[in-house]
Amino acid sequence: MQTDSALFATLQFGLLGLLVGSFLNVVIYRLPKMMEQQWAADCAQLAGHTLPAVAPFNLMVPRSQCPHCNAGIRWYDNLPLISYAFLGGHCRHCNAPIGIRYPAVELGTALLFAFCGWRWGYHAAAMAWCGWMAGMVCLALIDWDSTLLPDAILLPLLWLGLISANLQWTAVSVEHALWGAVVAYLSLWSIYWAFKLLTGREGMGYGDFKLFACLGAWFGWQALLPIILIASLTGTVFGVYLKLNHGLREEGVIPFGPFLVGAGMVYLVVKPWGFELLML
Ligand SMILES: [Zn+2]
Repeated sequence: MQTDSALFATLQFGLLGLLVGSFLNVVIYRLPKMMEQQWAADCAQLAGHTLPAVAPFNLMVPRSQCPHCNAGIRWYDNLPLISYAFLGGHCRHCNAPIGIRYPAVELGTALLFAFCGWRWGYHAAAMAWCGWMAGMVCLALIDWDSTLLPDAILLPLLWLGLISANLQWTAVSVEHALWGAVVAYLSLWSIYWAFKLLTGREGMGYGDFKLFACLGAWFGWQALLPIILIASLTGTVFGVYLKLNHGLREEGVIPFGPFLVGAGMVYLVVKPWGFELLML
């Protein structure tokens, strides 16, 4: 690819990532709440209760508002990165601090999308990988916040991985992608049950199996061992670090999803340099 074209693609995808990142903030904040509302409604229905009518709450409504004072956020205060900088990280109305997470997600998504633009240029593969990046950012942060890994993100990503393999948007054959997903799911499922039967405790959740299956679909079965090694190692180091600093949550649970996502991203970035040969 021409250098100019690569530069333009990098910049344009980065800009797109900035906008998408702004939307991902909404998904990360609202999707777990939407799931909990749905469960409450389902439970009430099963028990024969009628829940009081609640205001609609989804990705579109209500409009963005300050979680502190509930003032609506106008479009000019909702521009990715720019508004945060302009407002000095505080709500225009009540001056409450705005979490650094919001601009961090916008910037992070911009960088990840820019990477896709740089790597694949103006090609459908770049868009597919941007979709993967967006899904991964949501999954990592939602799992971190709530230990949930929503099927609403996992399942489309799994299908998109298999389709991308078939359309040669990813570097793996359909066969390798399919077996990647199957072996990933079954391996963690087996470990889960072995651990549960031996210790009576649950070491992971079903969401982790599906997330690993997603990575198998996008990277092929050959990538599973390096990815699980990186995820386990970083997860363990982080867990020990938290324990030593008394930073563990009350239940002592560390969500595994963020480490799987991190390992998948590391694998995607370093694989072209033959890093996987060292790992296998
Ligand atoms: Zn406010």
